[in-house]
Amino acid sequence: MSFKELGLSDLTLKAITELGYTEPTPVQKLTIPHVLKGSDVVGIAQTGTGKTASFALPMLDILSSGKAKARMPRSLILAPTRELATQIGENFVKYGKYHKISMALLIGGESVAEQKKILSTGVDVLIATPGRMIDMFERGQIIMTGIKMVVIDEADRMLDMGFIPDVKKILSWVKTTRQVLLFSATMDKEIKEIAEKFMTFPKEVFASSPSTAAKTVNHTVVYTADATKKRRILCDIINSEDIKNAMIFCNKKREVSSLYNVLRDKHYSVCQFHGDMNQHIRTATIEAFKNGDFELFVCSDAAARGLDLPDVSHVFLYDAPYKPEDYVHRIGRTGRAGKEGKAFTLISDDDFKALAAVEKNLGRPVILNKDFGDPSLYKERKVLAAKSKFISKVNPNKHKPKPPTLSKLERENKEKEEKLRKEELFRAEEQRLMSERRRQEQRQLREANPYMSPRRPAADQHKHKKGASDKGRTKDKVAFGEHMPAFFGIKIK
Ligand code: ADP
Ligand code: MG
Repeated sequence: MSFKELGLSDLTLKAITELGYTEPTPVQKLTIPHVLKGSDVVGIAQTGTGKTASFALPMLDILSSGKAKARMPRSLILAPTRELATQIGENFVKYGKYHKISMALLIGGESVAEQKKILSTGVDVLIATPGRMIDMFERGQIIMTGIKMVVIDEADRMLDMGFIPDVKKILSWVKTTRQVLLFSATMDKEIKEIAEKFMTFPKEVFASSPSTAAKTVNHTVVYTADATKKRRILCDIINSEDIKNAMIFCNKKREVSSLYNVLRDKHYSVCQFHGDMNQHIRTATIEAFKNGDFELFVCSDAAARGLDLPDVSHVFLYDAPYKPEDYVHRIGRTGRAGKEGKAFTLISDDDFKALAAVEKNLGRPVILNKDFGDPSLYKERKVLAAKSKFISKVNPNKHKPKPPTLSKLERENKEKEEKLRKEELFRAEEQRLMSERRRQEQRQLREANPYMSPRRPAADQHKHKKGASDKGRTKDKVAFGEHMPAFFGIKIK
């Protein structure tokens, strides 16, 4: 299927032909016709499969008619990072070469005044990071009612970076009649929720199963026995491989800097990139790497997703990633758009746990590289690591007395018993208090009436009830009746 058959305009076709795109990628084939028809679309495809063009090309055609008003953008693209937003902008410039479409970037780290000025001129395509978008809207610089299309790009990365609440907030501000497109490498629960809440009968497109690595990437693990040897072995591989450009991923920003220093001191052509760096330096570094000024790019996961850095022939994972799904994103930096690529993951004894998680996520083991490191020890250490994980799981509880576990029924019965016991105690206490009160009242009565006789023993009372005639008793009765105060109400004669 050609781009023409997808229904794109001649102006768009001309631009992409000049870029050398001959055939649409699977995700482009599946999404572009739906977008052109005006449907909401959820596009799931791995990194490097051409998701940007999937939304940018039809958007250009849709937006080619109509004009933007001041502070009323006609479409909005949300991207998780400044670099990704910039990259989308660059693609719009390339794809929209023959369109008269205005575009603005609304990203953090850039001048607000400048961005305000551009917004006031009216833009067709606004590309923004969620934070800056909310900021500008709350300052009253953007009117959302003109937005006809919203794209959420790299939704999985938005999720990782904690931007989903911001995305929801922004989506709730735009009119419900707008068209929403969402792109992600993985389909997570939170992403599904967005689709359900903010999209209208979205067409779901799965151009590849989630968490699969590109087939053109040859990815292997290099076992380095102990972590201290990693640097030497990394240099061995770099020296023996035919590297055009390489990315080296580390888990920690500190490690990025120290590895960068080591490689620079060894006179490699190297630059570094991580989230703590100033925005302008980050942009300049990417630019320089793209221009081929550096051969090696040492980075943190800030560069793992979405960034389109062409011609990366090799990816090195200096550590196995903390999050298994990052493995696919890191190695996805190579083998893009059908090109061949190589990825090496350096594994020491400390990394086996992370590697096991990666393999579980991939659904198969990563092949051992026998050309580098200490491959002969790998199998034995892997088995040991698996065993020690098992032992450490089982042993700590072995000698600990386990708290008794009760079944649900037992727990309910126990609760009922406890309730009854408490009720009984309460009743007994109530009775005790009542009789105490009664005794006190009688005491008070006796004090008020000095002639009142003390209570008779029970046997005695019984005798008098039967009405036995007894002189003393009659005398008592009379004497008692005569002196009885009026409030008793009865006078016994
Ligand atoms: P994703 O967003 O899926 O990670 P990108 O949109 O960044 O991928 O595209 C990856 C690379 O593939 C870019 O360099 C882009 O120019 C290229 N590309 C996209 N579509 C095509 C195509 N149809 N033919 C050739 N190259 C393409
Ligand atoms: Mg992308």
